[in-house]
Amino acid sequence: MKALVYPDWNNLEVREVPEPLPGPGEVVVAVAAAGICGSEIEAFVSRSPRRTPPLILGHEFCGEVVAAGEGVSGWAPGDRVVVNSLITCGRCPACLDGMSHLCPGRGVFGMNRPGAFAELVAVPAACLVPLPEKISPIQGALVEPLANAVHVFGLVRERFPETVVVIGAGTIGLMALQVARAAGAFRLVAVDTNDARLEVAHALGAEPVFNPLREAVVPAVREFTRGRGADVVIDAVGTSDTRRTAVTAARPGGAAVWIGLHADGTEVSGHDVVLGERAIFGSYAVTPRDLRTAIGLFAHGKIELTPWVRPFPLEDGARVFRQLATDPPRDFIKAVLLP
Ligand SMILES: [Zn+2]
Ligand SMILES: [Zn+2]
Repeated sequence: MKALVYPDWNNLEVREVPEPLPGPGEVVVAVAAAGICGSEIEAFVSRSPRRTPPLILGHEFCGEVVAAGEGVSGWAPGDRVVVNSLITCGRCPACLDGMSHLCPGRGVFGMNRPGAFAELVAVPAACLVPLPEKISPIQGALVEPLANAVHVFGLVRERFPETVVVIGAGTIGLMALQVARAAGAFRLVAVDTNDARLEVAHALGAEPVFNPLREAVVPAVREFTRGRGADVVIDAVGTSDTRRTAVTAARPGGAAVWIGLHADGTEVSGHDVVLGERAIFGSYAVTPRDLRTAIGLFAHGKIELTPWVRPFPLEDGARVFRQLATDPPRDFIKAVLLP
């Protein structure tokens, strides 16, 4: 089969590789569409030890079951599926408590096992979620990142936040804006250093938008909220600066949710946290329920993917990946590969 392989540091190429066989409890999925994730681009650029070549990347994908291994029941060739990016043990306290995303033994497609930038991929049946006919392959590939944004809102106490600020208008940020909009938030604010991305955020309902290269974000958010601060601020970037901004721009009693993973060390104001009882949540990956909610959001037309998502044939994968890594395009944000 054809696959976009990552054979060595700083190298990516489309090659013929052996087809995977389903192990016990696994199925083989013919990939219909697979999104290139920012985390993969970052891992490629920084030579992250979390994704060590040789590897086939790709963890945001959907497709069709083509073969089932020993012991698989309930799935048959022809079933349309979306795949949880995490492989979990199913037996530990976290898994048994419905918090499988926090399983200490979790693995990730395209990290600990071959990923989805290929025609076929072997998948444990426990990772499968049925995908309705009305969801297109491109929407199917975006279910996982959308579910990441759904997960964010599952963490905050505020059920009906009025003002939501999203820092970082990349894929997760744009999904978070649309989940907030679907959940009824009246006022959406987007923050990014890239004006083209802010334009997309604006088209999806963010008003106002702030570029920190031109204006100080915290005073601007305070002014917009009549001095109070936002109910929820989501940091989809993950630098020390953006995390601190997320905490400080939240109102007293409000919440900052950190989902970006750009840097590790972070300095925040202890006064903002203690004196303002501002909560900080870390958000990681998704639960099976988040995936089902994301499918529902697509099914009910709540999520716009034009004009920011663009499909490419798998053959163009190396070129598109390098472009995203070195010279981010101005005319789209998210690339989806179609094997
Ligand atoms: Zn991802
Ligand atoms: Zn577990």
